[in-house]
Amino acid sequence: MQKLEQLYEGKAKKVFATDDPALLIVQYKDDATAFNGKKKGTIAGKGVINNQMSNALMRRLAAAGVPTHFVAELSERETLVKKVGIVPLEVIVRNISAGSFCKRYGFAEGVRFAQPTVEYSYKNDALNDPLICLPHILAMGLATAEEMALIRDYALKVNAFLCDFWRDAGVTLVDFKLEFGRTPDGSIILADEISPDTCRLWDSATGERLDKDRFRLDLGGVEGAYAEIMRRLKDHV
Ligand code: ADP
Ligand code: UDP
Repeated sequence: MQKLEQLYEGKAKKVFATDDPALLIVQYKDDATAFNGKKKGTIAGKGVINNQMSNALMRRLAAAGVPTHFVAELSERETLVKKVGIVPLEVIVRNISAGSFCKRYGFAEGVRFAQPTVEYSYKNDALNDPLICLPHILAMGLATAEEMALIRDYALKVNAFLCDFWRDAGVTLVDFKLEFGRTPDGSIILADEISPDTCRLWDSATGERLDKDRFRLDLGGVEGAYAEIMRRLKDHV
């Protein structure tokens, strides 16, 4: 597999073409951003952790019936993935109130919901990734009703798998963000990443935050939290 030109540099990853038009290489950076890029920093070692964690989880999700873009881990920071047309939605699943949910509704943090919730944000940096409802997704043609039913079903399957996985590692899965894409044959698969950048993970015993909120909220111990969550993952794979 040959790595060709860089196609895109995002906030957390670079994307490269390969000599196979159906495959891309993603390279994970240590760069961290929050609040739609307004806060910028570096989390040493984050790229390695996010790459390895995302791949370990996606491998297991594929076995649990959720198709993913993962093909092969090429190095500490680089992974070969299936190229997809990203559905421009952030699919957010919540088990416990936190973050923008609390801010939007003036609702207490840390309340466990009777059922997980699934919501969507329109992936558009210029508009600040606004919350979007299903009728508007369909009206704009961002995805079909059939695709959205599948995306919601996959998102809840990912949640059920990750809740169990992290519970066994002494970690509570609060919420997370997924991205899905279309392969050339039109099937929907899980893409992007699953990492402490995209999940809220709280130590089940102490409530300590082991995710990007430490960076967002200037809580300190950011690198240590990423290393701790990686250690928990390695102990449970
Ligand atoms: P951002 O674009 O938000 O700054 P990243 O730095 O993570 O985010 O950049 C990675 C980009 O690659 C994202 O835009 C993501 O939607 C896209 N992407 C992730 N997986 C795939 C894939 N399998 N095929 C095509 N694009 C992908
Ligand atoms: N999230 C993400 N990327 C985003 C927005 C949210 O990965 O652009 C994740 C975030 O880490 C959290 C979940 O999605 O685990 C829910 O985030 P929320 O809507 O509460 O927004 P935030 O508080 O991060 O602004």
